[in-house]
Amino acid sequence: MLRIDVAVIGTGAIGAAATWRLAERGVGVTAFERFAPGHSFGSSHGDTRLFREACLEHPDLVAMAQSSRALFRELERLSGDELLTITGGVSIGAEDSDAVAGAVRAAEAASLAIEHLSAAEVRARFPQHADVADTDVGVLDPAAGVARPERTVRAAAAAASTRGARIVTGTTVTAVEPGPSGVTIRTADAVWTADRVIVAAGAWLPAFAPWLDLTPVRTPLTWFTPRDAGFDIADYPVTIRQVDAGTVMWGHGSIDGSLVKLGLGDLWGTERPRIDPDAVDRGVTPADWSRLSPLVERVLPGLEPVPTRVEPCMITISPDDQFVIGAAPESDRVLVAGGDSGHAFKHCLALGEVLARDAVGEAQELELDFVRPARLTG
Ligand SMILES: Cc1cc2nc3c(=O)[nH]c(=O)nc-3n(C[C@H](O)[C@H](O)[C@H](O)COP(=O)(O)OP(=O)(O)OC[C@H]3O[C@@H](n4cnc5c(N)ncnc54)[C@H](O)[C@@H]3O)c2cc1C
Repeated sequence: MLRIDVAVIGTGAIGAAATWRLAERGVGVTAFERFAPGHSFGSSHGDTRLFREACLEHPDLVAMAQSSRALFRELERLSGDELLTITGGVSIGAEDSDAVAGAVRAAEAASLAIEHLSAAEVRARFPQHADVADTDVGVLDPAAGVARPERTVRAAAAAASTRGARIVTGTTVTAVEPGPSGVTIRTADAVWTADRVIVAAGAWLPAFAPWLDLTPVRTPLTWFTPRDAGFDIADYPVTIRQVDAGTVMWGHGSIDGSLVKLGLGDLWGTERPRIDPDAVDRGVTPADWSRLSPLVERVLPGLEPVPTRVEPCMITISPDDQFVIGAAPESDRVLVAGGDSGHAFKHCLALGEVLARDAVGEAQELELDFVRPARLTG
């Protein structure tokens, strides 16, 4: 039996970050990944993710995003790669919409410098947007930008390896069994024992944590071709627009002079079909853009409404749309990390740091009650 200090299951966004932060501390860490860092079969591919500090999902996410931003800069220094580009961002909707009220609530709680726009100012500054009601407003978040998922995951895994972490690729963990003197980890051809295990398995986490009510969902990534000018990222920055009660359209302008990335986010408790991540449909069909295309036609008529590029992806929704980070009820040797609910990439490096602190028993600096499992398990 092979002995490890800390094992990490999954080197996607959160697991690669945790592996790096543990290796930085000189902890003996072995990470298991069924594919390889930066792959496109989980939740962390598709070139870009939105980064925002005025996080509409929870005010305590502001400090988490700021912690992540500092770690993005550290990882850029180590890798020599650009991982996070600040472009500024705007939220558009009615004053009491999730997109606007959530961003304002987070910004006010953390005293962020945001700028308020009237409907007329939104129309003047962002003329790409049609159907802006007189009652709509805008909120500018100067700290928003675009992060690079595949590059970040690879950079974190490489930084971890440089500091002595072992990353075992092409290896699926089949069981995690906590016991009084350690945790047994089974793969197809080996049995390992670790003092602590971090399970950061993304859409596969429900199999390891059936005690959590997590729902993996297929969520396509879609890119659109501009018909009109004004869709470079300098003109159409990171944008969240409330398009219906409970639904936002998120996206950003072209970063390479070609396609504009857009998607739909269903807020707070929308029911969506649960998928099995091993059997997820990896093809694309018009059903992947049937909700989005009419909305693009309505609010961004300067774009072709049928996407030019589509890729399947997955998110894993928790009951309250917040992440789940912390010890499993059966053993504090097992830490779970997931339930990303479609907004965890920007926080992944901070979450890796939180997990490293949990694993070695260091005090936390962030407010974490809202992401701890206890809030869901009672
Ligand atoms: C369409 C879309 C748009 C999004 N937009 C944004 C955005 O704009 N901003 C933002 O912040 N977030 C966004 N997100 C969410 C963000 O991408 C995810 O929250 C984040 O990537 C989740 O990372 P993860 O580490 O939990 O999962 P993953 O990166 O999928 O990592 C899980 C890893 O575990 C591995 N694994 C699983 N089971 C095993 C096993 N048994 N053995 C070994 N390895 C295993 C997998 O192969 C995988 O590599 C978006 C997500 C989607 C799908």
